[in-house]
Amino acid sequence: MKLILFDLDDTLFDFATTFDVVLKKLFAAHPVISRYDADAFFETFQHYSNELYYLYEQRISTVEVYRNRRLIEALAAFQYTMTEEEASDFNQNYIREYVRSLQPDPAVQMLLNRLKERYQLGIITNGPHDMQEGKLERLGLMELFPSEQVWISNVVGLAKPDPQIYQLALDHFQVQAEETMFVGDSWEADVAGPIRVGMQAVWVNKYGKAPQTDVKPHAIISNIHELIDLL
Ligand SMILES: [Mg+2]
Repeated sequence: MKLILFDLDDTLFDFATTFDVVLKKLFAAHPVISRYDADAFFETFQHYSNELYYLYEQRISTVEVYRNRRLIEALAAFQYTMTEEEASDFNQNYIREYVRSLQPDPAVQMLLNRLKERYQLGIITNGPHDMQEGKLERLGLMELFPSEQVWISNVVGLAKPDPQIYQLALDHFQVQAEETMFVGDSWEADVAGPIRVGMQAVWVNKYGKAPQTDVKPHAIISNIHELIDLL
């Protein structure tokens, strides 16, 4: 093994928890949204966030349009008509607050520094371009992953599990797929996709989900820190 490629969100940091905390805080401070029952509104918002995700995932709309839509639809369910501009303002604030709330995790940095002694390291992420670079900076990962070792789907115009996005990393590091381990939490993007191009994969399965297809990852771990025992 020469190269380890990581997913970012929910692999190198906890995206989901930060998402919940930041949005609940912003909803509670919002002049309109704060009038509604907090749990009921958040649940409705999450429903639309999941239901409309295909718009962004299948690149039917931009991430900005998707973020506005999920908020506008959630508010419509509470009989409030939010304008695109209001939604846009809210979401720009959300991105700022989200990125600002992140902090480096010394344990993750220590793990990556140890791995870096023996392997080349890269990141391939499908996350939105307007957040990923800020996340890396706030998480203190810029030194470990200089920008030429990070592939962001919106920036390169390809998204996991497109075989070509994995190839970009192989070409950059001049290694073969067989010499590469992919580590991530998404079955399709981080396990099945990499295995199809000949890589090995470690599935970070924090929530104990069932595999979606019959491909076999090299290992299944519940936390990134278990990686050190595998390599
Ligand atoms: Mg992920």
